[in-house]
Amino acid sequence: MKKKSCPVCSKSMALKVSKTPEGVKYSYFVCNSCGEEILSMKQLECVAKEYRELRKYNVKLTKWGESYGMRIPKDLVKKEKLDKVKELVIIPEKVGFRVVPV
Ligand SMILES: [Zn+2]
Repeated sequence: MKKKSCPVCSKSMALKVSKTPEGVKYSYFVCNSCGEEILSMKQLECVAKEYRELRKYNVKLTKWGESYGMRIPKDLVKKEKLDKVKELVIIPEKVGFRVVPV
């Protein structure tokens, strides 16, 4: 990626990488002088694409007695190779939770 100059003070900008609370990685530019932060259209497209991928797996909660059930979509089962998995562990996070095979 070529060097970017700050739209505010015209000084050079550094490329940084961060993560959204959902865990989506993204890159952006920070001005070395005034601290202005910007995303290029390409960087924005990358984040938007990641979010579209996340949305694919919106699921509904179903009440089962005192607990709640969630269906795991078929393509996600395939992607994560869960078809042979018997047990999963739920790990609470700052935002939501993570589900991983035992
Ligand atoms: Zn600047």
